[in-house]
Amino acid sequence: MFTVFIIFATILLAFLTFCVVVLRGVSNPRSMLFGTVVHQGLDLRRRVVALTFDDGPDDSFTPLILDILRREKVSAAFFVIGSNAVDHGALLSRIHADGHVLGNHSFTHSHVGSLRWSRYWDQEFARTDALIMSAIGRRPAFFRPPMGLRNPRMMTSARNRGYTTITWSCRGFDGVRTTSKRILARLARTTRSGSIIVLHDGTDPFGRRDPQATIDALPLLIAEIRAQGFEFVRLDELIGVEPYLPADHGGDAVSSFLGNQSERH
Ligand SMILES: [Zn+2]
Repeated sequence: MFTVFIIFATILLAFLTFCVVVLRGVSNPRSMLFGTVVHQGLDLRRRVVALTFDDGPDDSFTPLILDILRREKVSAAFFVIGSNAVDHGALLSRIHADGHVLGNHSFTHSHVGSLRWSRYWDQEFARTDALIMSAIGRRPAFFRPPMGLRNPRMMTSARNRGYTTITWSCRGFDGVRTTSKRILARLARTTRSGSIIVLHDGTDPFGRRDPQATIDALPLLIAEIRAQGFEFVRLDELIGVEPYLPADHGGDAVSSFLGNQSERH
């Protein structure tokens, strides 16, 4: 009886360990279990950090964020959701013209996207790339998985398309209801040399929040991080990777998607 118990306990422990390892692979921004991710800068001796914004563009809030960044002379990266970018080509152009980088943050920002396989992700990537390409004529090289959740097929599709998958070092948790005070306190405490910082200029299509807290926090946050001796650099400089791919890099999916689009219209 005791032996049966030991065997059962061992199997249960192995199963629980397996679950913990897989869950870390899915959600931990530093885990490489399903493929390489970049969660911080290369040279941690330099006191440099990069600001990134997710879930835009947003007609009301992205321009306010852009105004603050222009005033503060900070260049950032914007990981846009394709479905939010439809009919907002002018806003994507302004982000680019202001000297910021555009990255792919999926088309639908599905909360269960990490359960979907290659064909789904190929479409998500291609549709958002096509919108960015038609707005700025450049093909993004950076992809950030929605909520940072990954699976092996998503990561393989991303790698095949030539993306560098970006997660983060620290985040303001401003994708949910919060206050500027909390955003500021959290990031002032957790920012380190080489940090990739996540904030949100837009809203997840499946969520609700008031981005005003982010708007209020941003100038204070920039001042606080500079007061700690950090300099802001653009994400591509922080990680030493070109932010855009050659137009023909794995471009079949994009061109065929653009072709389908134009056939439809
Ligand atoms: Zn997001």
